[in-house]
Amino acid sequence: MNDCIFCKIIKGEIPSNKVYEDDKILVFKDIEPQAPVHILIIPKKHITSLNELSKDDAQIIAHVFMKVQELARELGVSENGYRVVTNCGVDGGQTVEHVHFHMLAGRNLQWPPG
Ligand code: 5GP
Ligand code: ZN
Repeated sequence: MNDCIFCKIIKGEIPSNKVYEDDKILVFKDIEPQAPVHILIIPKKHITSLNELSKDDAQIIAHVFMKVQELARELGVSENGYRVVTNCGVDGGQTVEHVHFHMLAGRNLQWPPG
């Protein structure tokens, strides 16, 4: 857990471009944006992946999605729309083992993903 990049970002040991923070979650810009808006929403609690979520985490996850809705309004993308993605495991394309939600917006996103 100590060498988790996202835990280091939460602790301020690695700089990030913060969008929002409270006691439960941190939102910051992705270092390699795949769309005009590409932010990451992460719980401050270290949870390795969706596979490790427990019922105790339900409130945090609900909070994440309510914040996504609010940020979409603030960022002006509610009307045109956006996508929220969580990659899990090798086949899901997860590269950072601290559960996170990508929010992508600002262009017409294609489907299905590659
Ligand atoms: P995953 O591939 O695990 O779904 O997503 C990890 C995301 O974290 C990637 O989109 C990657 O660009 C982003 N990322 C990795 N390291 C850093 C970092 O140090 N700072 C920021 N802001 N984003 C990062
Ligand atoms: Zn972590």
